[in-house]
Amino acid sequence: MDIDYFLSLLREDKEELVNQAYEKKNKIYNQIVTYSRNIFVPVTHQCRNRCGYCGFVSDDPNSWITPEGFREILIKAKNSKSNEILITLGEKPEEKYESAKAFLNSIKFSSTVEYVKYLCNLTLEKKLLPHSNLGILSYEELSILKECNASLGLMLETSSSRLLSIDHPHFLSPGKIPETRLEVIKNAGKLKIPFTTGLLIGIGETWEERIDSLLKLSEIGKKYKHIQEVIIQNFNPQPGTPMENHPPPSAEEFLLSISLSRLILPPEVSIQIPPNLNRDRVVTSLKYGANDLGGISPVSIDYINPKMEWHNESQLKTMLKKESYVLQKRLPVYPQYEKYLNSRIREIIEDFYQNEETIST
Ligand code: SF4
Repeated sequence: MDIDYFLSLLREDKEELVNQAYEKKNKIYNQIVTYSRNIFVPVTHQCRNRCGYCGFVSDDPNSWITPEGFREILIKAKNSKSNEILITLGEKPEEKYESAKAFLNSIKFSSTVEYVKYLCNLTLEKKLLPHSNLGILSYEELSILKECNASLGLMLETSSSRLLSIDHPHFLSPGKIPETRLEVIKNAGKLKIPFTTGLLIGIGETWEERIDSLLKLSEIGKKYKHIQEVIIQNFNPQPGTPMENHPPPSAEEFLLSISLSRLILPPEVSIQIPPNLNRDRVVTSLKYGANDLGGISPVSIDYINPKMEWHNESQLKTMLKKESYVLQKRLPVYPQYEKYLNSRIREIIEDFYQNEETIST
């Protein structure tokens, strides 16, 4: 099935599209909805790119988390019974900022990747599971990070090169060249890294481009069998950014994007939505084909969308129960991909299963 097939389904029979997506989701997930209890750690806001919608990026040389600051976060993670440390940062900061190099030198690291590797190892020592998002990485960098992460992530966002042109959101972002991002996702597949990717909906892409993005992810996922989840994230305008007045996608656009992803992607791939950006449509999203709510933190904010609070877990559970859904905690690696991980990480996972009855297996 090609782009034209899905475009005509969208145009002519939206109800059929949603029904097929719901049916496909139910065959595997039924009424189970998963999430990961995590702590979001922005290691630095410095980034070589300037995406038109980004409220995360900053030139601030003091935005780096120190090893001491990171250790304090790990204590909070233990105290809050979190499973996952979500490590996020701007892409290749040392390529753009002398201050980034100076910070890394001051703590005796030669690169951001080396520093993140160190932070991941601290995380594993505390028997917690790292999931890192560093943007574009080489094959060698991916292989280094595979050894100390439960999973890695890189949003494709879009396969459209059109959005790299002037007056479009990726004009100042060399890291957003779609082919480069697809290459990273493929390399992660060759290395058998449990992987999270996703689409950003509503940044100026067309339906045709959205479908193309999903078909490309589907092709890679089928070949390498490492894409464990695809996030369908709706653009949320951030004050002070070039796109602060750009309208967010309509509810229908967002929900139909979920159904399309469910239909196009392999059945075992989780379709995740960010619940804090969709407080009033969590249940509706499930009816359109989503089955996962991603990371929810009892401690940290969402640094990408700082004004959008996470749900309280028990209230979310109660709300879903009223609709006959069962909310289950999961780890940052889905069970069927654990076999890709080294024994050190698998032992930590085993401990979680032994000690936490609520983890979904
Ligand atoms: S790559 Fe990420 S952190 Fe950097 S500007 Fe773009 S959205 Fe922001």
